[in-house]
Amino acid sequence: MPFMYWESRVLTHAASTVMGQVRFGGKPFREYFQAAWRTLFADEIGVLGIASSGSLYPLAKDNVDTHGKYGFTIAQLKKYLLRNEWKFHAGHPLTVDNLSDPDSWGEAPLGGNAIRLNSRKLADRVRDDHGETVESKEILMWLTGSVILHELLHAQGFTHPRLSDDPDIRAAQKRVGSDYRQSFNEIAQRAVHTASPFPHELDAFT
Ligand SMILES: [Zn+2]
Repeated sequence: MPFMYWESRVLTHAASTVMGQVRFGGKPFREYFQAAWRTLFADEIGVLGIASSGSLYPLAKDNVDTHGKYGFTIAQLKKYLLRNEWKFHAGHPLTVDNLSDPDSWGEAPLGGNAIRLNSRKLADRVRDDHGETVESKEILMWLTGSVILHELLHAQGFTHPRLSDDPDIRAAQKRVGSDYRQSFNEIAQRAVHTASPFPHELDAFT
């Protein structure tokens, strides 16, 4: 049964190396990545996280009911966020690679089998805005999780309009109710923010 749990991903050598090098609050980034994975999908003994257990579904559905949706159906929302039926599982894991492009939190080829995560940018941006505190460690974990889910949905085949390089156009593209904001990727990412203790801090990053 396709299912996102602890063993449903593998790290490339590059991702593993960078996650060991990047440090935040006295710990390697790898620990934030792993904590994010537990929080979203499952831990080592199979206790389900908020995405796998269906907890994100009502938050995402509420967003759709209020602001609309772009590029996906309610049946798809239920398939992934309520029933946890992803194409990835232990026998066909998601590959997590490193991304060093300073402009992106992450990226993923559409419909592919990999996501790329910018560990360094995630840690640097949280440090810039919130320092290294007990609270900011939690913020980094939640932001990492929300970015993973956004990219995972690209790998699953969902996408959003490309954001403009022009800051004014880009700001308009990111307004509440826009095609970008109502894409599955963004709705799922923001459902993670809403489920966290830091919704405003997390929304401010994206
Ligand atoms: Zn995206």
